[in-house]
Amino acid sequence: MTKKSKYFTKDRNILVSNDDGIFSPGIKALAEVAAEFGTVHVVAPDRQQSAVGHAITVSDPLRATSFQIDDNFEGQAINGTPADCVKLAQSKLMKQQPDLVLSGINHGSNAGINIIYSGTVSAATEGTILGIPSIAVSCLEFSESADLSGCQEAARRVITFVLENGLPRGITLNVNAPAGPLKDLFWAKQANSRYIEEFEARVDPHNRPYFWITGKLEILDNDEDLDLNILKTGAATVTPIQYDLTSHDFYQKVNREQTL
Ligand code: MN
Repeated sequence: MTKKSKYFTKDRNILVSNDDGIFSPGIKALAEVAAEFGTVHVVAPDRQQSAVGHAITVSDPLRATSFQIDDNFEGQAINGTPADCVKLAQSKLMKQQPDLVLSGINHGSNAGINIIYSGTVSAATEGTILGIPSIAVSCLEFSESADLSGCQEAARRVITFVLENGLPRGITLNVNAPAGPLKDLFWAKQANSRYIEEFEARVDPHNRPYFWITGKLEILDNDEDLDLNILKTGAATVTPIQYDLTSHDFYQKVNREQTL
């Protein structure tokens, strides 16, 4: 096992989840970092659940199955979404309340507009909704064989930050890092961006058309403090995000100036 943090205590219960599924190399890499800080509980989807956003399962039963991740970690695999995993873990599966929720390490970027589609970020956001400090961690590289050491180091630094400073209620930290060793880690804003969607049209063996989503991410602003622009320089980013979707500026303006 790796060296423990000076903040390690076995009384700290750390829930680790993700959206790539409990079999993913990324969740094992994050569980390793979590074990430096406390007792690890892995509760994650039993299959790939990327880009499910904050979906929850309301029409089907949820089942938890024990899963041996490796010699060091076991966990519970859930036939549900990332948000289901965090809710069920907190409500029923963990004997003690989680003190920290970690989600990832996702195989693929969750910077810019990806945040809104991401199951990885939603697992962390669910932790925040439940009042638990929560961090999402993603690697820019999709490959399951990517070197996650820099992402692990970024996670280590951000966890340390949270343990030293706490997090305001309602704030989740979203970490993105390139594959390979960590160079720099900077605070960043979510880049205003969108996918230019393209659908590849194909035909199945029964001669029926089907479509496969592809797309290119377009960055809409050039500010240097945006996650996507910082990541282009080879540095890693951490973005404080919130699930309060109210546009406070617009609300103030219309509530003052416009009667309905
Ligand atoms: Mn994913």
